[in-house]
Amino acid sequence: DGSGKGAALITAVAKRLHNKHRQNENNTFPSVERVINVMARFRREMKNGLSRDFNPTAAVKMLPTFVRSIPDGSEKGDFIALDLGGSYFRILRVKVSHEKKQTVQMESEIYNTPEDIMHGSGTRLFDHVAECLGDFMEKQQIKDKKLPVGFTFSFPCRQSKLDEGILITWTKRFKASGVEGADVVRLLNRAIKKRGDYDADIMAVVNDTVGTMMTCGFDDQRCEVGLIIGTGTNACYMEEMRHIDLVEGDEGRMCINTEWGAFGDDGSLEDIRTEFDREIDRGSLNPGKQLFEKMVSGLYMGELVRLILVKMAKEGLLFEGRITPELLTKGKFETKHVSAIEKSKEGLNKAKEILTRLGVEPSHEDCIAVQHVCTIVSFRSANLVASTLGAILNQLRDNKGVGRLRTTVGVDGSLYKMHPQYARRLHKTTRRLVPDSEVRFLLSESGSGKGAAMVTAVLAMSWGEKTI
Ligand code: BGC
Ligand code: MG
Repeated sequence: DGSGKGAALITAVAKRLHNKHRQNENNTFPSVERVINVMARFRREMKNGLSRDFNPTAAVKMLPTFVRSIPDGSEKGDFIALDLGGSYFRILRVKVSHEKKQTVQMESEIYNTPEDIMHGSGTRLFDHVAECLGDFMEKQQIKDKKLPVGFTFSFPCRQSKLDEGILITWTKRFKASGVEGADVVRLLNRAIKKRGDYDADIMAVVNDTVGTMMTCGFDDQRCEVGLIIGTGTNACYMEEMRHIDLVEGDEGRMCINTEWGAFGDDGSLEDIRTEFDREIDRGSLNPGKQLFEKMVSGLYMGELVRLILVKMAKEGLLFEGRITPELLTKGKFETKHVSAIEKSKEGLNKAKEILTRLGVEPSHEDCIAVQHVCTIVSFRSANLVASTLGAILNQLRDNKGVGRLRTTVGVDGSLYKMHPQYARRLHKTTRRLVPDSEVRFLLSESGSGKGAAMVTAVLAMSWGEKTI
């Protein structure tokens, strides 16, 4: 049961505190056996999501994206890219030109998306997006042009072609009414038409994982996986058409957006979820959904740590039992604090600072304990991602029928980028799970927006066919 596992987590923390010799990174939670077991489970989820019979009930949706190839370097043009759904709402202008070699020039602006707009009506949300786009075009002095637009929309969408995306469900911080079940390209087009002060041609809607894969694919032709570990988490990869029941045809490959954040929504992760995971879920905008994401991503990590600290303080294991209103306030302990506390040199000082601000008057031992809690939670996250990523990489290897897999994973996301140990741990565990492989992790320099422009570029050059 849940509280038993919560206790186990605390015991694990306590054990680490009292057994200094076991404080090495090989003694992780969950264990390597667990990680391998979760990898096998996710591999089955992938298979179900791809199959015609099981897809309707599958938790992991394995959505076809209608992206069939990675940029080949011949693309050129002038594009706009919108990037909505990550930590920031960004608008970019991407100019791709060919002198001797392909060069990409980018300019971008970040726009706010106030909470009342994220939680209000869909009409208002898309009016806001259209207004920001208008402002951007004004600044770029291109309001009289009809530039092709690529839309990175970081939510699960059903697609039957590139320029259509029917929102299945909101995730993360968004919950605008009247959008689920609707085509976001139509909603945006309608908002732009209504204004009437500029024109835009939305050519493609892509998930941020796809945008990231495309961005990285531009620099490394081997890139065939896109991974996001930020506010949310997800991955896409190039799957063989013959394995994709939901799309006609057996030739070539298509990018599949796994939507792995929903792993566990059918109960398949109950044995590893803790009471803290359940509490996070209950307090979220989408209870019962995105259960894997809630164990992993940046939107929830700080809060997970806070819940554990509260429990430990209540049991007298921390702060001599002191519990302050700040410590009890949702959101007061942020994921960026986890990152700060896990820094190898200043970490303990940061812990002292952060905990002092919460009013709990931490002792040196408290700071060490809190650092351990952070490590357990962030390590668990990295290991969970390693297990799902490992499943994808093993699938790629089997698809290719080669002994040795050589591939590149394009990565983006605030947690992956900002946390001092996360990337290294993830790489290490993943490589262990996919032996006899050469896996390169390539950080997306410019986020996923450029990728949407790349998809648009490839599309613009394929004479308007709705798939690339
Ligand atoms: C969404 C995905 C997205 C991921 C990362 C999840 O909540 O469902 O579509 O790729 O967050 O932004
Ligand atoms: Mg993003």
